[in-house]
Amino acid sequence: MSSIADNIGSVTRRIQKATLQAGRGAGSVRLLAVSKTRSADDLRAAIAAGQKAFGENYLQEALDKIDALADEADIDWHFIGPIQSNKTRQIAAGFSWVHSVDRLKIARRLSEQRAPALGPLNICLQVNINEEDSKAGCGLDELPDLVAAIGELPNLSLRGLMAIPDPDQPEADLRLSFRKLARTLHELKAQHPDAGPLDTLSMGMSGDLELAIAEGATWVRVGTDVFGPRPPKS
Ligand SMILES: *Cc1c(COP(=O)(O)O)cnc(C)c1O
Repeated sequence: MSSIADNIGSVTRRIQKATLQAGRGAGSVRLLAVSKTRSADDLRAAIAAGQKAFGENYLQEALDKIDALADEADIDWHFIGPIQSNKTRQIAAGFSWVHSVDRLKIARRLSEQRAPALGPLNICLQVNINEEDSKAGCGLDELPDLVAAIGELPNLSLRGLMAIPDPDQPEADLRLSFRKLARTLHELKAQHPDAGPLDTLSMGMSGDLELAIAEGATWVRVGTDVFGPRPPKS
């Protein structure tokens, strides 16, 4: 089995190659290491290899790791899982990014509970891009109102959009899903120039990061190809 450091090296090379092939600037795509279910020691191995940004899905698990790794400098914690409204206070305090905001109530609470001294919390709106019944995320039709309202909130910085397209669709359709998210961001930015930077597309995972980068991803969220296969959920 390859080590976490080796995995980060090979994922980083994949990102660099796809970025170059897309004719995009070096460094325009960043690696978010998705560390759900991984031990603090696994994260330390990634940190030793230079990784600073980690994505967590489950709040309590994340808080335990944030605590265990408090001695590590400059770690960037990203929340990427479903958000219950009674959990927003801890998310606003412990994370620098949230990729999974999908309703105004959650955004309002995050803004109210974010200490201004920490600087604005970076937010992406999660979009249910393939309109799957079971999936989290807002509808494309809800975005204009959400962007307008969230743009007014003082302690958030509206960075862009996140999606998890249906992985079972044919590759051509997957590509179109990424392209649709990119086009939507572009339109929102034109319509709401003051809502926030709107410079971020959080899309692409272990199996499809090249495709996502070709369509404009700026964060790729990679778990399996960084840390190895996750143990099945019990
Ligand atoms: C688990 C997860 C990932 C990483 O998936 P891999 O296929 O293991 O790379 C990315 N994004 C979200 C939201 C996740 O929950």
